[in-house]
Amino acid sequence: MFVHNKRLQYTVRVAAPNPGLANLLLEQFGGPQGELAAACRYFTQAVGEDDPGRKDLLFDIATEELSHLEIIGSIVAMLNKGAKGQLAEAVESEAELYRSLTGGGNDSHTTALLYGGGPALTNSAGVPWTAAYIDTIGEPTADLRSNIAAEARAKIVYERLINVTDDPGIKEALGFLMTREIAHQKSFEKALHSIQPNFPQGKLPGVPEFTNVYYNMSSGNDARGPWNDGADWKFIEDPQPAVDGGDGLATVDVSADDIEVLKAMAYRTASDMRTDPTTGAELGAGQA
Ligand code: MN
Ligand code: MN
Repeated sequence: MFVHNKRLQYTVRVAAPNPGLANLLLEQFGGPQGELAAACRYFTQAVGEDDPGRKDLLFDIATEELSHLEIIGSIVAMLNKGAKGQLAEAVESEAELYRSLTGGGNDSHTTALLYGGGPALTNSAGVPWTAAYIDTIGEPTADLRSNIAAEARAKIVYERLINVTDDPGIKEALGFLMTREIAHQKSFEKALHSIQPNFPQGKLPGVPEFTNVYYNMSSGNDARGPWNDGADWKFIEDPQPAVDGGDGLATVDVSADDIEVLKAMAYRTASDMRTDPTTGAELGAGQA
């Protein structure tokens, strides 16, 4: 059950309308790292989860992300207040209105015209939100890692948004939202490592002869570090196909009928190495 509390999770004080900044903040409203994507990601994982601890964690964070959606949407709405009234009532001259929406080189006219200055479920470039942003695969040892990465990306987008505004009230609210993503990341890390073992993901182990091997797939100065050096790793300097010891070719058994058809196609489309046909390139260059 969801019940709406009429007050926000964090107080929003916006100094003055700014439709350009509102547009940038849409990234965290309807963008891939935004709050709706986060809420839907954890909500759907919670519904499908059987572990009581993880289920509770996922529902709590999903619900908090909805509260963040409400905060960021409210900031967008406040920043668009002036533009919304001006667009609806057309009290200013056309030129004035155009200038107020596009001032400072921003592209807020797109979302302003399409959505009337209300918070739109788009990213900051006007691309509509999509469920394709959510990459849940239904295995907690994989999904928790994806959740950790999603929180890390959300943290970075908030950091960038904090860097583009000098409004102290917005900076403070964005700082809260950014900090909560750090806390969520920590909870997801703890939840991941409370499953033991959690690597590799799922049930099947890796094939032993390939699990701790590093293939050096380039020539030139090779960087060595803990990702390919040390007791854990077998470093293959110059890997040759096929690493399984086979002939490295792809084969399949097909029916006798299919072999006949494939031969006919190969004959029809065979290259003739002895010809040098005149083509459009020569015709066009006047050399025919
Ligand atoms: Mn959030
Ligand atoms: Mn979060």
